[in-house]
Amino acid sequence: MTCIFCQIIKGEAVGQILYRDEQVTAFRDVHPIAPVHVLVVPNRHINSLEEAGEADEALLGHMLRVGRQMAAKEGVRDSGYRLVINTGPDAGQSVLHLHLHAIGGRPLPFRFEK
Ligand code: 5GP
Ligand code: ZN
Repeated sequence: MTCIFCQIIKGEAVGQILYRDEQVTAFRDVHPIAPVHVLVVPNRHINSLEEAGEADEALLGHMLRVGRQMAAKEGVRDSGYRLVINTGPDAGQSVLHLHLHAIGGRPLPFRFEK
C-alpha cells in the first residue's frame, strides 16, 4: 500500500519539511485551513491514534511537543493555536497515517471545516 505521508518522510514525494528528528517529521499541509497549518507525523507508519499502543506513549507526547515547537517557529505561540488528531471516518481522517495538525494564525471557531 502506498502511503503519501511515508513517501514524504522518505523524500519520495514533495513536501515542505519544516522539522525532522529520529521519531517525527513535520511538514506544511498542502491544503492549509489557516495561515499556519503544519502536520506532525511519526516516521514509522501507524494507521491512526487507534493503532498507537502503550509503547507509543512517548512518541505521542513527543508529537505534542513538536506541534508546540512548530507553532512557536511559525510565530503563533502568543496568538494561540490548536493541535488536532482526527481519528476515523466521523472525524474526517482522510490520510491513514497518524498525524497531528498544528493550526493557527487566525481565530479558530470550535467547529471548523476544511
Ligand atoms: P486528515 O483529514 O486525515 O486529518 O488530514 C489529512 C491532511 O493531509 C489534510 O489536511 C490534507 O490537506 C493533507 N494532505 C493530504 N495529502 C497531502 C500531501 O500529499 N501533502 C501534504 N503536505 N499534505 C497532504
Ligand atoms: Zn505511512
